Amino acid sequence: LKFNMTNLNSIITTLFPLIQADALKKNSSVNLEMKDVPDLLLDENEIRQLILNLVRNALEAMPLSGNLTIKTFSDVDNVVLEIQDEGKGIPLDIMEKIGTPFFTTKDDGTGLGLAVCYSIAARHDAKINVKTGSSGTTFSVRFLPNQNKN
Ligand code: ADP
Ligand code: MG
Repeated sequence: LKFNMTNLNSIITTLFPLIQADALKKNSSVNLEMKDVPDLLLDENEIRQLILNLVRNALEAMPLSGNLTIKTFSDVDNVVLEIQDEGKGIPLDIMEKIGTPFFTTKDDGTGLGLAVCYSIAARHDAKINVKTGSSGTTFSVRFLPNQNKN
Protein backbone atom coordinates (compact mmCIF):
# COMPACT_ATOMS: atom_id res chain seq x y z
CA LEU A 1 0.00 0.00 0.00
CA LYS A 2 1.14 3.48 -0.82
CA PHE A 3 -0.81 6.26 0.86
CA ASN A 4 -0.47 9.83 -0.36
CA MET A 5 -2.45 13.02 0.15
CA THR A 6 -4.67 12.81 -2.91
CA ASN A 7 -7.89 14.39 -4.10
CA LEU A 8 -10.81 12.09 -4.88
CA ASN A 9 -11.98 14.45 -7.62
CA SER A 10 -8.69 14.18 -9.48
CA ILE A 11 -8.84 10.37 -9.33
CA ILE A 12 -12.39 10.47 -10.75
CA THR A 13 -11.37 12.94 -13.45
CA THR A 14 -8.53 10.63 -14.49
CA LEU A 15 -10.90 7.64 -14.69
CA PHE A 16 -13.67 9.51 -16.45
CA PRO A 17 -12.77 8.63 -20.07
CA LEU A 18 -12.68 4.93 -19.15
CA ILE A 19 -15.97 5.14 -17.24
CA GLN A 20 -17.64 7.03 -20.04
CA ALA A 21 -16.49 4.50 -22.63
CA ASP A 22 -17.91 1.67 -20.48
CA ALA A 23 -21.18 3.57 -20.09
CA LEU A 24 -21.47 4.33 -23.81
CA LYS A 25 -21.11 0.63 -24.67
CA LYS A 26 -24.19 0.04 -22.54
CA ASN A 27 -26.16 3.01 -23.89
CA SER A 28 -25.84 4.72 -20.53
CA SER A 29 -24.68 8.18 -19.61
CA VAL A 30 -22.54 9.46 -16.77
CA ASN A 31 -23.24 12.49 -14.60
CA LEU A 32 -20.39 13.87 -12.51
CA GLU A 33 -21.38 16.03 -9.54
CA MET A 34 -18.17 16.85 -7.74
CA LYS A 35 -17.99 19.42 -4.94
CA ASP A 36 -14.66 20.67 -3.61
CA VAL A 37 -13.41 18.10 -1.12
CA PRO A 38 -10.24 18.11 0.98
CA ASP A 39 -7.32 15.87 0.06
CA LEU A 40 -7.29 12.51 1.82
CA LEU A 41 -4.62 9.97 2.62
CA LEU A 42 -5.36 7.46 -0.12
CA ASP A 43 -3.78 4.61 -2.03
CA GLU A 44 -4.66 5.85 -5.49
CA ASN A 45 -4.54 2.43 -7.16
CA GLU A 46 -6.90 0.98 -4.59
CA ILE A 47 -9.34 3.88 -4.83
CA ARG A 48 -9.36 3.52 -8.62
CA GLN A 49 -10.21 -0.16 -8.21
CA LEU A 50 -12.96 0.66 -5.69
CA ILE A 51 -14.54 3.21 -8.02
CA LEU A 52 -14.33 0.95 -11.08
CA ASN A 53 -15.86 -2.01 -9.23
CA LEU A 54 -18.81 0.11 -8.06
CA VAL A 55 -19.20 1.73 -11.49
CA ARG A 56 -19.21 -1.66 -13.24
CA ASN A 57 -21.86 -3.00 -10.88
CA ALA A 58 -23.92 0.14 -11.45
CA LEU A 59 -23.71 -0.23 -15.24
CA GLU A 60 -24.46 -3.96 -15.03
CA ALA A 61 -27.56 -3.08 -12.98
CA MET A 62 -28.84 -1.08 -16.00
CA PRO A 63 -28.71 -3.64 -18.84
CA LEU A 64 -30.62 -1.53 -21.38
CA SER A 65 -29.62 2.02 -20.51
CA GLY A 66 -29.69 4.50 -17.68
CA ASN A 67 -27.91 7.29 -15.89
CA LEU A 68 -24.92 6.65 -13.72
CA THR A 69 -24.19 9.44 -11.25
CA ILE A 70 -20.88 9.89 -9.47
CA LYS A 71 -20.84 12.43 -6.64
CA THR A 72 -18.33 13.75 -4.19
CA PHE A 73 -19.12 16.08 -1.32
CA SER A 74 -18.28 16.76 2.30
CA ASP A 75 -20.71 16.72 5.18
CA VAL A 76 -20.13 17.37 8.87
CA ASP A 77 -18.33 14.11 9.51
CA ASN A 78 -17.09 12.70 6.24
CA VAL A 79 -15.84 13.14 2.73
CA VAL A 80 -18.30 11.14 0.66
CA LEU A 81 -18.09 9.37 -2.69
CA GLU A 82 -21.41 8.18 -4.14
CA ILE A 83 -22.07 5.91 -7.11
CA GLN A 84 -25.73 5.90 -8.05
CA ASP A 85 -27.59 3.84 -10.64
CA GLU A 86 -31.14 3.57 -11.94
CA GLY A 87 -31.31 -0.21 -11.86
CA LYS A 88 -33.93 -2.43 -10.27
CA GLY A 89 -32.37 -2.33 -6.82
CA ILE A 90 -31.12 -5.12 -4.58
CA PRO A 91 -33.72 -7.43 -2.99
CA LEU A 92 -33.50 -7.83 0.80
CA ASP A 93 -32.42 -11.49 0.71
CA ILE A 94 -29.60 -10.55 -1.68
CA MET A 95 -28.60 -7.48 0.37
CA GLU A 96 -27.61 -9.79 3.25
CA LYS A 97 -25.13 -11.63 1.05
CA ILE A 98 -23.47 -8.97 -1.10
CA GLY A 99 -19.81 -8.47 -0.32
CA THR A 100 -19.38 -12.11 0.69
CA PRO A 101 -16.54 -13.39 -1.50
CA PHE A 102 -17.83 -15.32 -4.55
CA PHE A 103 -21.48 -14.35 -3.96
CA THR A 104 -22.92 -13.33 -7.32
CA THR A 105 -26.33 -13.25 -8.98
CA LYS A 106 -24.77 -12.92 -12.46
CA ASP A 107 -24.20 -15.79 -14.91
CA ASP A 108 -20.70 -14.47 -15.59
CA GLY A 109 -20.04 -12.82 -12.23
CA THR A 110 -17.06 -13.51 -9.98
CA GLY A 111 -18.68 -12.23 -6.82
CA LEU A 112 -15.42 -10.55 -5.88
CA GLY A 113 -16.04 -6.91 -6.81
CA LEU A 114 -17.74 -5.82 -3.61
CA ALA A 115 -15.58 -7.99 -1.36
CA VAL A 116 -12.59 -6.12 -2.77
CA CYS A 117 -14.39 -2.79 -2.25
CA TYR A 118 -15.08 -3.59 1.41
CA SER A 119 -11.43 -4.55 1.97
CA ILE A 120 -10.18 -1.38 0.30
CA ALA A 121 -12.60 0.73 2.34
CA ALA A 122 -11.46 -0.95 5.56
CA ARG A 123 -7.81 -0.22 4.76
CA HIS A 124 -8.81 3.45 4.35
CA ASP A 125 -10.91 3.60 7.54
CA ALA A 126 -13.87 4.26 5.24
CA LYS A 127 -17.39 2.87 5.53
CA ILE A 128 -19.62 1.73 2.68
CA ASN A 129 -23.37 2.31 2.96
CA VAL A 130 -25.95 1.01 0.50
CA LYS A 131 -29.32 2.57 -0.22
CA THR A 132 -31.48 0.58 -2.57
CA GLY A 133 -35.01 0.59 -3.88
CA SER A 134 -37.06 -0.06 -6.98
CA SER A 135 -35.68 3.06 -8.70
CA GLY A 136 -32.02 2.27 -8.14
CA THR A 137 -29.10 1.79 -5.84
CA THR A 138 -26.58 4.16 -4.29
CA PHE A 139 -23.29 3.01 -2.80
CA SER A 140 -21.78 5.68 -0.52
CA VAL A 141 -18.18 5.48 0.61
CA ARG A 142 -17.62 7.68 3.67
CA PHE A 143 -14.05 8.71 4.40
CA LEU A 144 -12.85 10.43 7.54
CA PRO A 145 -11.23 13.77 6.78
CA ASN A 146 -7.58 13.65 7.84
CA GLN A 147 -7.03 14.81 11.37
CA ASN A 148 -4.38 17.41 12.01
CA LYS A 149 -1.51 15.59 13.58
CA ASN A 150 0.40 17.76 16.09
P1 ADP B 1 -20.33 -9.56 -9.37
O1 ADP B 1 -20.50 -8.18 -9.95
O2 ADP B 1 -19.22 -10.33 -10.02
O3 ADP B 1 -21.63 -10.32 -9.30
P2 ADP B 1 -19.94 -8.12 -6.89
O4 ADP B 1 -19.27 -8.50 -5.61
O5 ADP B 1 -19.45 -6.92 -7.58
O6 ADP B 1 -19.86 -9.39 -7.83
O7 ADP B 1 -21.50 -7.95 -6.62
C1 ADP B 1 -22.18 -9.00 -5.94
C2 ADP B 1 -23.68 -8.95 -6.21
O8 ADP B 1 -24.23 -7.77 -5.61
C3 ADP B 1 -24.06 -8.84 -7.67
O9 ADP B 1 -24.06 -10.12 -8.31
C4 ADP B 1 -25.46 -8.23 -7.59
O10 ADP B 1 -26.43 -9.21 -7.28
C5 ADP B 1 -25.34 -7.32 -6.37
N1 ADP B 1 -25.08 -5.91 -6.75
C6 ADP B 1 -23.93 -5.23 -6.59
N2 ADP B 1 -24.06 -3.96 -7.00
C7 ADP B 1 -25.33 -3.82 -7.44
C8 ADP B 1 -26.10 -2.74 -7.99
N3 ADP B 1 -25.55 -1.53 -8.19
N4 ADP B 1 -27.40 -2.98 -8.31
C9 ADP B 1 -27.95 -4.19 -8.11
N5 ADP B 1 -27.29 -5.25 -7.60
C10 ADP B 1 -25.99 -5.08 -7.26
MG1 MG C 1 -19.14 -6.64 -9.69
